[in-house]
Amino acid sequence: MQKYDTAVIGSGPGGYVAAIRCAQLGLKTVIIEKYNTLGGTCLNVGCIPSKALLDSSHHYYDATKHFSTHGIDVKGLEVNFKQMITRKNEVVAQTSGGINYLMDKNNITILQGVGSFTDSTHITITKNDGTTEQIEATNTIIATGSKPSTLPFIKLDKKRIITSTEALNLTEIPKHLIVIGGGVIGLELGSVYSRLGADVSILEYMPTIIPGMDLMLSKELQKSLKKQGLKFFTGHKVTSVVNNGNEVIITADNKKGVSTEFKGDYTLISVGRKPYTEGLGLEAIGIKMNELNQIETNEQLQTNISNVYAIGDVVKGAMLAHKAEEEGTMVAEIIAGQKPHIDYNLIPGVVYTWPEVATVGKTEEQLKEAGVSYKSGTFAMRALGRARASMDIDGQIKVLADAKTDEILGVHMIGARAADMIAEAVIAMEFRASSEDIARSSHAHPTYTEAFKEACLAVNDRAIHS
Ligand code: FAD
Ligand code: NAD
Repeated sequence: MQKYDTAVIGSGPGGYVAAIRCAQLGLKTVIIEKYNTLGGTCLNVGCIPSKALLDSSHHYYDATKHFSTHGIDVKGLEVNFKQMITRKNEVVAQTSGGINYLMDKNNITILQGVGSFTDSTHITITKNDGTTEQIEATNTIIATGSKPSTLPFIKLDKKRIITSTEALNLTEIPKHLIVIGGGVIGLELGSVYSRLGADVSILEYMPTIIPGMDLMLSKELQKSLKKQGLKFFTGHKVTSVVNNGNEVIITADNKKGVSTEFKGDYTLISVGRKPYTEGLGLEAIGIKMNELNQIETNEQLQTNISNVYAIGDVVKGAMLAHKAEEEGTMVAEIIAGQKPHIDYNLIPGVVYTWPEVATVGKTEEQLKEAGVSYKSGTFAMRALGRARASMDIDGQIKVLADAKTDEILGVHMIGARAADMIAEAVIAMEFRASSEDIARSSHAHPTYTEAFKEACLAVNDRAIHS
């Protein structure tokens, strides 16, 4: 029987990063993945394919709506949807192949199959062909991720009533896509199909879309997406979803109890994801779960079984690839005897719509609720020369800073390239920068990043360009 210092179950961004860091720290490492390709949800049916389709559909949208203003006339413009999906698949294949390369480079053994605990130091791997293999591991990191949740009365038929996985692999552009859940997946994939010509209706239970993010972001994003043609039905509780052959019929009640019927050809169920632990044999070793069915861990991400750790979507916290990656690194270092730390307040959140939404730290609502006194500075993207040059004038940046110390407590951005710009705010906050620190740092002109500097200047009422 092969013996390893560390076994990692699951090869998503949590698992593969954990495996690489373990190997870097001199641990003999094996990674176990039940699918034929590495990379987990993120690379195969999540972050990467969705961004590939967002980029392709963005090009098409620009070509149809904006090129003529730029003085570019295009004739016979058409979507070749099959090719768009093929390109997306190629991007996924290349990215997943890159993980195989990294495993090889770091001398990490890959075992294909479902990993299941026999006891706390032994794992049985059941391969696709039904054959099994057993390994011994001193420590194990569970990184089995999550899968889409649904509502109790919805039967996901994966044909017309679909999850993100099917929405990334459709064979036609929907005529009317009804999205249930106005969170990250609903708005990203809703944007893709709206840009490609579908009618898109977003049904959201809460009063605002992207609930939980700063209210300014939800308002601004809804305004921008509405201009692009998406229709919003917030405060709507879905009560039934029926596949009628070629049509889905959805009934939803608004706050006053008024019922509306929606008819479309596809409905995307994007009401969150749930931790995935099936087949792991957690019962065999008595691993404790919490009330949300996540694997329970302490601050070191250690389960109640001391040599078994868990990271990523299968444990508490934001279901984000970069959160899983940080946890993968942290656990590997803990196993190697180091004392790493993650500041969960500084894990950024991004929505890859256009304009993009990006956020880090506390929202204004959270500061109010906690009774923290703060100052706020905002700057509108439309006041930037760079934004006018590219015609990406929607959005704004808001900086929240402590009223006494001026330390930045939260940064909320909506605008072109906010997804990339948020990194500056994360770094600033990691170094506990004040808004003045940013306001006094030179930002290249003309760039979108000037809006962050200006919002920091605005915290003390001294923005230059507004
Ligand atoms: P996963 O990536 O889910 O990987 C878990 C792996 O474990 C899977 O490959 C699974 O097959 C394997 N596995 C499970 N059980 C076993 C077993 N018993 N034995 C062997 N293998 C097993 N996050 C972002 O940060 N940015 C984004 O832009 C983004 N976009 C997204 C878009 C979509 C459509 C979706 C669905 C998600 C998106 N996410 C995004 C979320 C992100 O994909 C997850 O947070 C991330 O993949 C979690 O990583 P993980 O390593 O915990 O698990
Ligand atoms: P989400 O939690 O972002 O959004 C779910 C939405 O569904 C919420 O707005 C919620 O209020 C709503 N909802 C819940 N029940 C409802 C009901 N009965 N009727 C109508 N609306 C209802 O979840 P998601 O969009 O499914 O994404 C799942 C996870 O994947 C998220 O945790 C997210 O972090 C991650 N993800 C991240 C990215 C990114 O980082 N860009 C992209 C996609 C997914």
